[in-house]
Amino acid sequence: MSETFDVIVIGSGPGGYVCALRAAQLGLKVACVEKRATLGGTCLNIGCIPSKALLQSSENFHATMHAWKDHGIVLDGVKLDLARMQARKGEVVEANVKGVEFLFKKNKVTWLKGAGRITAPGKVAVNGAEYAAKHIVIATGSESMPLPGVDVDETTIVTSTGALELDKVPDHLVVIGGGVIGLELGSVWRRLGAQVTVIEFLDRLIPGNDGEVAKHFQRILTKQGMKFRLSTKVTGAVKGNEGVTLTVEPAKGGASEQIKADVVLLSIGRRAYTEALGLQDVGVATDERGRVKTNGHYATNVPGIYAIGDVIAGPMLAHKAEDEGVALAELLAGQAGHVNYDVIPGVVYTWPEVAALGKTEEELKAAGTAYNVGKFPFTANGRARAMGDTDGFVKILADKKTDRILGAHIVGPDAGTLIAELAVAMEFGASAEDVARTCHAHPSLNEAVKEAALAVEGRALHI
Ligand SMILES: Cc1cc2nc3c(=O)[nH]c(=O)nc-3n(C[C@H](O)[C@H](O)[C@H](O)COP(=O)(O)OP(=O)(O)OC[C@H]3O[C@@H](n4cnc5c(N)ncnc54)[C@H](O)[C@@H]3O)c2cc1C
Repeated sequence: MSETFDVIVIGSGPGGYVCALRAAQLGLKVACVEKRATLGGTCLNIGCIPSKALLQSSENFHATMHAWKDHGIVLDGVKLDLARMQARKGEVVEANVKGVEFLFKKNKVTWLKGAGRITAPGKVAVNGAEYAAKHIVIATGSESMPLPGVDVDETTIVTSTGALELDKVPDHLVVIGGGVIGLELGSVWRRLGAQVTVIEFLDRLIPGNDGEVAKHFQRILTKQGMKFRLSTKVTGAVKGNEGVTLTVEPAKGGASEQIKADVVLLSIGRRAYTEALGLQDVGVATDERGRVKTNGHYATNVPGIYAIGDVIAGPMLAHKAEDEGVALAELLAGQAGHVNYDVIPGVVYTWPEVAALGKTEEELKAAGTAYNVGKFPFTANGRARAMGDTDGFVKILADKKTDRILGAHIVGPDAGTLIAELAVAMEFGASAEDVARTCHAHPSLNEAVKEAALAVEGRALHI
């Protein structure tokens, strides 16, 4: 036995590394096992951070080409240097992953390099050595979901990982799946000049989001030049000398047709990743979707083994994983860790952005909850007009009787930042009137949030 720890966390994504840091802050002796060459997991290496770097760069390029003329800025000879754009993305990732390494050193968290396998409760093997721990935390994350008949090679048929690495703008990119990742990366390549077609099995985009928001969002993306084939399924993909030929048919069945693409992005969702972790050997139970089963305190059915993040049930989001990491570390240190699953924002980082929080109208209707809706468009917001970013609206759903905010949905400029004030409001159990009576700076995009809160009582001022 090499060394004994209070906690060994397997996986250094936002769930794992944050859990390790918080446990160390609380005085526990902590190790984190990571098999990737760098820390930070999917999020920092091949997920949130590189995708946001490319979204920002492509947005800057697109604005320079198309939006700035309207502001009186005329530039000739604007060119795309994709190699530099990709190199910058690499620099952003490197700064972030090195940052986690620094934080591990600062907090005295030991990085055990290699793949971790649980050999018995309280025992983890890494690279031929065995380590002991009072508590083992599984934070091994997720991987891209495969689709039979569509074989990924990460060059012409890619997952998000390959879509972040393309060294040439494809003429025609076909995205399979109209969810967050497909639409974000589709937007990147659309802005850089690709023709983009999104094929979605369902009859709508971003399933799980408010239906009205999803419809409005699709209209905006269509205006930006994206094409959509909804209620359509992909049944096969054949690679040839000149790209890929996809076979598609109506989701309900019917005549098939072919679509040609230079690059295909497969983004139909992600699934829990537990390969070679030894779960079966130690008897850790998983559910029908391969996720590690946990109770309300992140404990599995095997004493001393816990799990957090994408590998367990719940939204596959970095901040959900982080908050679970903090809560679990606090529980292991004898404190009262807790995550409020009713207030977890979800953001699509296109432009405009889409942000969702709490219940959708569809969910409230299904639950038979009586509610009021307050909506306010960015066309009536002074700051949005000044920015030239008037697409979208803020929508607040509040309990009909108590006025307590039950959900908030924004499609519009910087929606991902705007939603934060409503998250704080919901954490404090605020009513729509509380937000409406809060003084908001003028002129700010947040005034649209205040106006939507006023609109819940039918008294918006600026419309
Ligand atoms: C393209 C893309 C964009 C995204 N954008 C966003 C976004 O904007 N916002 C957001 O909230 N979420 C986003 N996500 C989702 C987010 O990345 C995940 O929700 C988050 O990374 C989950 O964190 P985690 O700690 O559970 O697991 P992960 O980040 O997946 O980390 C798990 C780590 O465990 C390691 N590991 C696995 N098995 C072992 C083993 N046996 N031994 C050692 N190490 C092991 C893996 O190498 C990996 O580094 C995005 C995902 C993708 C793919």
